[in-house]
Amino acid sequence: MFIDTHMHEMTYSKDSFLKLDEMVQIAKEKGLGAICITDHDSMGLKEYAEEYSGRTGFPVFVGIEFFSLQGDIVAFGIDEYPKERIPAQDFIDLVKAQGGVCFAAHPFRNNNRGLEENLRTVKGLDGLEVLNGSTSEEACRKAARYAIELGLFTLGSSDCHVPEKVGVCATYFPEEVRTMEEFLAAFKKGEMKPAHYADGAYRIIEVEKYEKGQVRVF
Ligand SMILES: [Zn+2]
Repeated sequence: MFIDTHMHEMTYSKDSFLKLDEMVQIAKEKGLGAICITDHDSMGLKEYAEEYSGRTGFPVFVGIEFFSLQGDIVAFGIDEYPKERIPAQDFIDLVKAQGGVCFAAHPFRNNNRGLEENLRTVKGLDGLEVLNGSTSEEACRKAARYAIELGLFTLGSSDCHVPEKVGVCATYFPEEVRTMEEFLAAFKKGEMKPAHYADGAYRIIEVEKYEKGQVRVF
């Protein structure tokens, strides 16, 4: 199934223009089986999203996009998170201590919010976002190179803030996941692959080919 693993909802991400219900409608039209809300430094939507999922039957997993002192990290499976910026390593350690998972968001985007060379020094990251719908092809390809070199799981996501971006990239999970427990278990296995939406369907991107420039996405 395909899941968009990094998305922003307007209630707690002030730079987003998207309401949850609209995101789910677009996600369904594109063929996504679940979505993830990863608001900036907030998991405020968690309770509402759980209620929404229960009512509609569409899985919505709430994580967080935490702006560590070295850059953005998306995490799932945690209850506690810092209320102020802390070093990336401290945040990763905190996620691990709670049994959660995390990945580096858009590590080479040119807005000083990616981990960049810190990818080489931090320990415990599970994955790396190699396709980000709001980042240049060049920066995404560089992320793919680092993921291969560092042996990290690879993900794709839209990082959407507006309707036209919902689901432009996503992550393929070989198994169906409906609960956060199932999502975390699948994530920890690491068999996911980045995917891109084009001509009405998702296409899985082979990271090695993408990194070599044999596949273009954007
Ligand atoms: Zn984001």
